[in-house]
Amino acid sequence: MRVLVITGAGVSAESGIPTFRGKDGYWRNLDPAKLATPEAFAKDPGLVWQWYRERRQRIRNAQPNPAHKAIAKLAQHAHEFMLVTQNVDDLHARAGLPKETMVQIHGDIFVTRCSDCDFQFRDTGRGGSPEPPAPRTIYPNSGRLGSIAPTSAQPDQEQEDLPRCPRCGALMRPGVVWFGEQLDSRKIYIVEDYLARGDVDLTFVVGTTALFGYIVDWATRARGRNGELVEVNPDETPLSQFATKLYREPATKVLPRLVNEMLAG
Ligand code: NAD
Ligand code: ZN
Repeated sequence: MRVLVITGAGVSAESGIPTFRGKDGYWRNLDPAKLATPEAFAKDPGLVWQWYRERRQRIRNAQPNPAHKAIAKLAQHAHEFMLVTQNVDDLHARAGLPKETMVQIHGDIFVTRCSDCDFQFRDTGRGGSPEPPAPRTIYPNSGRLGSIAPTSAQPDQEQEDLPRCPRCGALMRPGVVWFGEQLDSRKIYIVEDYLARGDVDLTFVVGTTALFGYIVDWATRARGRNGELVEVNPDETPLSQFATKLYREPATKVLPRLVNEMLAG
């Protein structure tokens, strides 16, 4: 059996990681849909970094839940398996899902990358250091804060601590895809290749609002004419109309049960 699983923030909600659209998604009264943008970073990189630092910490402290574990178990038993997750957390991997069967289409929150060149590194902060070591702050224009000094009247301590690229001096940023940014074409290729290599018998879509066209497109193409498309989400989404089965329940209620039934039968 060929299986495709697509997940969104809802699968990690029960691990205590807020979704963007839920009421817990707001941070300091700010809307995540506005913070997770290139515009927000250009305007106030310190604020955006602070939000990501807190989210990284929350993810480090969280544990995979029974839904992540059920997906990892399904992967072990399926003939062919792929997970496409919009989540930037590492809970699927920590639930035991092999890295090579998964595509983090919106990136990885533990990656820090240069906003200008190719330099990047990944650090989950588990190896002793509490937060990825900020590369030594380099101010290319010699004068201590040079031309990149924040324009606010009271320079913020945070701004001075922002990580800069050790190669080119540009600001480092989280290795995630922000609203309005392009997906990584190599990742698109991996998903397209999986779809092109044969029919998908079973597609699960779990905990995503499915507001991105490519998610709807991949899910409906995977279903094709004869496949099953199972949606697990307490709320209706644009994909619901294409589903062959709907479960309007939290992921941890549905997935362990479904996977156990499938493996037993
Ligand atoms: P979203 O926040 O827009 O929507 C979450 C969806 O999950 C909703 O449809 C909601 O009804 C559903 N949901 C809530 N609780 C659930 C549960 N217990 N079981 C099943 N479903 C549940 O999330 P999204 O569609 O993934 O997209 C928003 C963007 O935000 C993505 O790009 C993603 O990268 C990012 N994001 C990631 C994380 C994470 O990595 N954990 C968290 C928040 C946002
Ligand atoms: Zn650089």
